[in-house]
Amino acid sequence: MHVVVAGGGLAGLVAARHLAAAGAEVELFEADERVGGRVRSRVVDGFTLDRGFQVLFTGYPAARRELDMEALSLRRFAPGATIAAPNRRSTLSDPLGDPGAAVPTLLNREVTLGDKLRLLRLQVELRRRDADDILDGTDTSVRAYLRDRGFSEAFVERFAEPFYGGITLERSLSTSSGVFEYTFKMLSEGDTVVPAAGMGAIPAQLRRRAETAGATVETGREVTDVVADGNVTVETDAGTVAADAAVVATDPKTAAELTGVETPTDAKACVTVHCSLPAHQSLDTGSRILLNAADARPNTVAPMSAAAPEYAPDGRQLLAATFLGEQDDDDAALGETVREALSSWYPENHFGDLEVLAVDRVGFAQFAQPPGFRAELPAVDAPEGPVYLAGDYTEWSAIQGAMESGRRAAEAARTRLQ
Ligand SMILES: Cc1cc2nc3c(=O)[nH]c(=O)nc-3n(C[C@H](O)[C@H](O)[C@H](O)COP(=O)(O)OP(=O)(O)OC[C@H]3O[C@@H](n4cnc5c(N)ncnc54)[C@H](O)[C@@H]3O)c2cc1C
Repeated sequence: MHVVVAGGGLAGLVAARHLAAAGAEVELFEADERVGGRVRSRVVDGFTLDRGFQVLFTGYPAARRELDMEALSLRRFAPGATIAAPNRRSTLSDPLGDPGAAVPTLLNREVTLGDKLRLLRLQVELRRRDADDILDGTDTSVRAYLRDRGFSEAFVERFAEPFYGGITLERSLSTSSGVFEYTFKMLSEGDTVVPAAGMGAIPAQLRRRAETAGATVETGREVTDVVADGNVTVETDAGTVAADAAVVATDPKTAAELTGVETPTDAKACVTVHCSLPAHQSLDTGSRILLNAADARPNTVAPMSAAAPEYAPDGRQLLAATFLGEQDDDDAALGETVREALSSWYPENHFGDLEVLAVDRVGFAQFAQPPGFRAELPAVDAPEGPVYLAGDYTEWSAIQGAMESGRRAAEAARTRLQ
């Protein structure tokens, strides 16, 4: 059984490994010079920069199944967040998962005591529910869901908008409440982490695992056509390959072009400004993410090297400031906006030394996930013939969705071919 996998993002790498482990002869073609797709890292002047701020939730069932988390040397962000606005900052955390922050959380006046109790109740309720069922439950928008559960306007504006806006890349909270419930459960049942060597260590490990299982991974080779004719003919920029099956694990737009299956087209964009400061300049947030409660520019500032010291060289610290959506401003103007936001949150501090290291403008980070979005997604076996789809857009837009999709696509191909 010979299977071609087109695309070496998380979904394609997981599919390749499962198929090779099941005994298939697997060739994976990745158009780019390296695997990882939307998850990648690079080193600039001794700083590790992920392509856009992103994190792994250790609670993801697929991460527990597919990754050797121990080998990734995971570095953890403190739970909750620091809510920041001009001249004020406060901590809101999970008192159960983060007892050290229980007192400041209880004293936090940005949200009401009722909100804190509602958070605890939600945590208990979601712990009882199976992760697999959550995404297909009754669906509404995150905003309507929070309102229906009685959360205050202050909670929604100061915490939910920047925090969940950061996760779903839209501050209007119009995303599916199923995505909110799923991520809320993951946040309260596991840690928020990055590998010490950067998020790119995740696909690097998945590639090694696929190769160890027997798959061949070829980068710099683009798949240009996939024709199902009983078997499958895969056209690439370096020749034609005949196979028994193909798994198309590209981004959704390319997958639609290669298979004719309709895939989600609405893209969520974001821009991350990687900045550095002298290490001694304390931001008084530890490894807790800063939320912009006042406006969305930037939406969040993540203290990367406070969580993962390996991300910055000695004497410096690394911050990742993320803006939601495309940004017209040039890099220097974005850096200036970050400096102004930090100066307003920390009037006692001086940010003259803030240096912009790089700016990542990610046009397609996630696909839009409005309420009920799951009913519109293609199934992994939607294409004609022995051709399968693997990608977050068959599940939901996250590392969990991508890896789960890879496993399901491999399972569907294996079942048919056997
Ligand atoms: C900035 C940002 C922040 C994010 N934050 C988080 C987060 O905090 N937590 C979380 O869980 N998720 C997050 N996500 C989402 C998560 O990264 C994605 O859902 C996941 O990586 C998608 O993986 P995939 O394999 O489905 O697709 P992709 O990563 O898009 O992989 C597709 C691959 O196919 C290749 N390809 C395309 N066309 C061809 C072709 N013709 N031939 C061969 N190869 C081709 C591409 O080069 C690419 O490598 C974030 C994403 C971004 C970009």
